[in-house]
Amino acid sequence: MNLENDKNCAWITDLDKRNNISSLENNEETDWLIIGAGYTGLSASRKLGQLYPNKKIILVDAQLAGEGASGRNSGYLVDTTLNDGFTSNKEFENYKKKTDIYELGIGAIKRFIKEYQVNCDWNEAGKYFASSKIEDKKILINFSDTLNKLGFEHRLLNNTELKKKLGTSFYNIALFTKGGILLHPGKLVRAMIDALPQNVRLFENSPLLYWKKDKEIISCNFKNGVIKAQKIIFATNGFLKSLGIKKNYNFPITLTASMTRPLTDNEFKSIGEPKEWGVCQ
Ligand SMILES: Cc1cc2nc3c(=O)[nH]c(=O)nc-3n(C[C@H](O)[C@H](O)[C@H](O)COP(=O)(O)OP(=O)(O)OC[C@H]3O[C@@H](n4cnc5c(N)ncnc54)[C@H](O)[C@@H]3O)c2cc1C
Repeated sequence: MNLENDKNCAWITDLDKRNNISSLENNEETDWLIIGAGYTGLSASRKLGQLYPNKKIILVDAQLAGEGASGRNSGYLVDTTLNDGFTSNKEFENYKKKTDIYELGIGAIKRFIKEYQVNCDWNEAGKYFASSKIEDKKILINFSDTLNKLGFEHRLLNNTELKKKLGTSFYNIALFTKGGILLHPGKLVRAMIDALPQNVRLFENSPLLYWKKDKEIISCNFKNGVIKAQKIIFATNGFLKSLGIKKNYNFPITLTASMTRPLTDNEFKSIGEPKEWGVCQ
């Protein structure tokens, strides 16, 4: 059989086509304007819509909502990250704060998918931090010490155990954390679009070109219209700089991930039919 990988973002092509897309064609006035409809802008819009049901809220994206990084990432919901060097007490405190934020984030997504009955292939599969280099064991042991202090369930695995779990003998050493979750990022972000409250209007394919604040009014220029807002939230991720915000603070990078075709039954059998897993190298 001649199988080929496709050439699009598989998370997005996996979803039904949307038919409720509109772009900004007129001038508008609003109480709140949110720029960027990824996870951040969609969450902010939903929350504001719930808190202020009588206020006008507009959400705008340069492309289709949720089709930036939010709809095309690797789908890990992490409770811990491997940061070699969290050794001093101060760094340890900072790492703890980070994991507290991860916990809050996971809790928020859990509540969202429960409340809106979202199917986003939620899979509490845990996560492997793996390496093919045996000398990386010391990094994983340091990491294990940190996780022990914080009470995160985890364990170290060797090549033989990894072959059984992952179906490949490529990795020689790994640390498995139980709390990692895998999900379908496209389905999650689509559900967030569908859950936007009535008082949130969404305009897509409408990049913000420039903006200015005059007294208390923020005036935002788009190709086909101007939006005047009382308040604004920029949720454009790495593109903040192009809007003149925090110019020396962040910058966009290109990061790519790819999805292969599904394995055939024979291929799957040949690797020992492992359960779903996620590996971070
Ligand atoms: C390949 C890849 C893999 C990743 N894997 C993971 C992972 O496994 N787990 C994880 O937690 N994170 C992962 N990330 C990171 C994660 O996807 C991002 O942190 C997250 O999507 C950020 O969400 P956001 O809403 O802040 O920004 P984005 O999703 O980037 O949304 C910003 C939006 O702003 C819009 N925008 C930009 N400029 C303008 C403008 N001028 N006018 C109007 N709109 C504008 C963009 O079109 C975009 O839709 C990955 C990222 C990539 C690229």
